[in-house]
Amino acid sequence: MELALPGEDHPARVAFREWLAAHPDPSPMDLARSGYVGPHWPEPWGLSAGPIDQLVIDDEMRKAGIKRPQNRIGIGWAGPTILQYGTDAQRERYLLPLLAGDEIWCQLFSEPDSGSDLASLSTRAVRDGDEYVVNGQKIWTSFGHESQFGILLARTDPDARKQDGISYFICPMDAPGVTVDPIIDMTGLHAFNQVFFDDVRIPAENLVGEENGGWALAKVTLGNERVSLSGEGALWGDGPSAEALVEIVRRSGSMLTPTLAQRMVQVWSESEILRILRMRQIGAAIEGLKPGPEVSVRKAMADEHGKHLMDLAKDVAGSYGLLADAGPMEGLQGRHAGEPVLDGGGVWPALVWSMGYLYAQALTIGGGTSEVQRNIIGERILGLPREADVEEGLTWAESRARRR
Ligand SMILES: Cc1cc2nc3c(=O)[nH]c(=O)nc-3n(C[C@H](O)[C@H](O)[C@H](O)COP(=O)(O)OP(=O)(O)OC[C@H]3O[C@@H](n4cnc5c(N)ncnc54)[C@H](O)[C@@H]3O)c2cc1C
Repeated sequence: MELALPGEDHPARVAFREWLAAHPDPSPMDLARSGYVGPHWPEPWGLSAGPIDQLVIDDEMRKAGIKRPQNRIGIGWAGPTILQYGTDAQRERYLLPLLAGDEIWCQLFSEPDSGSDLASLSTRAVRDGDEYVVNGQKIWTSFGHESQFGILLARTDPDARKQDGISYFICPMDAPGVTVDPIIDMTGLHAFNQVFFDDVRIPAENLVGEENGGWALAKVTLGNERVSLSGEGALWGDGPSAEALVEIVRRSGSMLTPTLAQRMVQVWSESEILRILRMRQIGAAIEGLKPGPEVSVRKAMADEHGKHLMDLAKDVAGSYGLLADAGPMEGLQGRHAGEPVLDGGGVWPALVWSMGYLYAQALTIGGGTSEVQRNIIGERILGLPREADVEEGLTWAESRARRR
């Protein structure tokens, strides 16, 4: 199952090539202004491009070696939420610099005691004239130390039902009272932070949507986080794929043990199922359908698959796998064989495999844990009773009645 992209004379290809001829070395701001950063966004921020045009534009950009600005949370999650729920003034102020990557964004949602059950969050925002005063703590804030702005969830009505007392803010990360403390993860990198709020004053104009209406917006943000039509790499669409590991083994000409060979077949089969699910997801988008259950199915499967692939790559590396800078090739051909560098065949350097092994542990946690994805599949797709109801001893009918 492959998607055949439209041919050379497709209008979106022609338009992109004409634009590129006029902007042979486009800056990030040129790309943002042109609409090619988020082609599916409405004008003037995007091109209102349908899924086929998007795929065609991606194809053209790949061929021309043009990369979009890096601002994962800004472009992927904050931007679409501001686009949908923000005021005209907010869209005018924030979207263009965000698309150009001039202003980096982070997501201030998780707290030490509120992750999967995000609606239980306790960071408080209290209205004081034209400002809100924020106190509390966030954690696991990716890119918080590099960001100019964060999308912040805070409780504005502590007496309401927990989902009904939350508001959604744009928080300037340099506001007095915001403290960003690094968390070094086990790859040795500083990607995460914890963020403290001590009497931080946020202008009321930074409220997105209605006061106490933030939960609906948070769901839009999280929905965008879980839907990904991105690449086939095993690390949330990036990094090596099962095909890359197979390629290394093929190139080495070495024999695998029967057990490793069986695991290789297993991991490759998983990746093939995921590829087909991804095609279905893209196909549904092309037909204008809303993302279906395959989003949760794919996330739950893809995260486990990422771990399986990286575990297997370590095991193929044998005793070399104990080293931080060794990859599967060295296990097959010895320390000094050297591993092919990244090339068109998708063979990744040793360090990527080693780091990827450590990073893969995060896959089944970030963006909604695998257990929570399985709850969603069980309850919303299969119609099974909620786990909490089963633990309470409710019958299936009682559980269903409670949800109505
Ligand atoms: C790489 C990465 C990047 C991240 N970036 C950000 C970020 O930028 N901003 C941000 O706000 N957060 C971020 N997070 C945090 C992430 O959203 C949370 O870690 C995640 O929501 C889980 O919350 P938790 O860590 O509090 O775990 P908990 O919710 O405490 O879960 C602990 C364990 O209990 C299980 N569990 C919880 N509830 C249930 C249930 N109802 N049924 C069955 N099992 C359950 C979970 O599956 C898990 O195994 C990031 C996390 C990772 C790994």
